[in-house]
Order: sequence, then structure tokens, then C-alpha cells
Amino acid sequence: MHTGRIHSLETFGTVDGPGIRFVLFLQGCALQCRYCHNPDSWDTQAGELRTVDDILREIEPYVEYYRRSGGGVTVTGGEPTLQAPFVAELFRACKERWGLHTALDSSGFCEPSHAEALLDATDLVLLDLKRMDREGHRALTSQPNDRILRFARHLSDRGTKMWIRRVLVPGWTDGADELLELGRFIGGLEGVEKVEVLPYHRMGVYKWHQLGKAYPLEGVLEPGPDEVARAGRLIGQGIEEGKRGLTLAGKE
Ligand code: SF4
Repeated sequence: MHTGRIHSLETFGTVDGPGIRFVLFLQGCALQCRYCHNPDSWDTQAGELRTVDDILREIEPYVEYYRRSGGGVTVTGGEPTLQAPFVAELFRACKERWGLHTALDSSGFCEPSHAEALLDATDLVLLDLKRMDREGHRALTSQPNDRILRFARHLSDRGTKMWIRRVLVPGWTDGADELLELGRFIGGLEGVEKVEVLPYHRMGVYKWHQLGKAYPLEGVLEPGPDEVARAGRLIGQGIEEGKRGLTLAGKE
């Protein structure tokens, strides 16, 4: 039985996938996003070691709530694909025992070959596409985005359902060209059921301070509803362009 490094858990999550969900936060992440609200989840050696059976016992009392609400189990982080064998075993057990829906909330910073067994047990991937240009992505997250975009295309090719997410950070991820490009990329993917624009928030700033780190987005304001709506329109326009591009390419 696999053991996972656990950051924390939540028994009544409502924002990370459909319905009411058990949300498991895993420890460890290879990115360092400037807006991260869980920088305490980065360290791969921290967290609490727990077995799959331990976690199943945490889920069990609430299974009926999850099922009746059309919910299930979401594993997030940190970056859950860093502990792919543990998550795969947990998801398989949730399906076999209770027929629960499973969702993986990932940055996509993962080699597809490393996650195949996990993806076989995953009903939905919540995929964060943080920025489309390579160098801008590196400046925002410490890593380029090639691997992430490759992972997104792999999900599309294997028919995995996706919700794509964009954290809207003024001055960092909200440029018109950037949002159009994001839309075009999404328009070329299969299996995208939903696109969510998540307004950047400052609720995790205190954790940076607790860790003795300077907060890298000091002075950046949270976007308002008009900015979120504008971003949604630009991404939507990009998606239409991306789909047309696909159709035309297909006819040639
Ligand atoms: S991928 Fe998620 S957990 Fe990792 S640094 Fe970025 S926001 Fe934080």
C-alpha cells in the first residue's frame, strides 16, 4: 500500500470540481508561483505521511453526501502528480468501493508517461494554465511551460475531460494577447468541459511572511468583476479562433 505526504484535507469542498467533494491537499511542488497561496506546500519532505487506507477512513463518513450531490474526491496540492502512484491507488479504491467521481487538480508540470496509471483512474483534470509565453511563465512560476502544454495536449489526445483554469493576476496574466492565445490553445484541445477565470487573491500572503519569505506580488491588487468578465470574453474569442483554425487545417 502506498503512503502519501499530506499537507491538509477538507471534507466539504465546493470549488474544486462538481458537487460536494472531499479535497486532499498533497505536499510538494516543483513550481514557485508568485501568487501561490500555499507556499507551505512546496517542500517535498514536509507534511504528514499517511496510507491510502487512512485517507479512505477519512472519506467514508461523508460518502453519501458526495454521491448525492454529484460530487466526489479531488486531490490537489502542492502538485499531486509528484505522488502519482499514491493518488492512483486512492482513486482506484474510491471507485471500486463507492463508485466516486475523481478529480485531479494539477499544474500539469508532469511527464505524461509518469501519470498514465493515475489518469486511467481520473474522471476529470482541473488544469491550471498559468501563462502561455515561455519566458513569462518562467518569470511567474520559476519554470517554462513546455511540459505543461505537452501534458495538456496529451490529456486531449487520450480523451480525458478537463476544466481549464486561469488565475487572473493584474499585470501578469491578464494581457489581451495572452488571454487570446490561451483561448486559441484551448480551442485546439478536445475534452475541455469548462474554462474558469479565478481572480487572484491575497489570502495566502500571511503564509509567505510566516515562512520568512518576501511576498513577490506586493502592491498587486485583486481584479474586480469587470476585469474577470473581460478576461472571459477574450478567452472565449480566442477559443472560437482556435476552433476555426482547427477546422480550416482539417479541410486542407
Ligand atoms: S503550482 Fe500551485 S502549489 Fe505549486 S507553486 Fe503554483 S500555485 Fe503553488
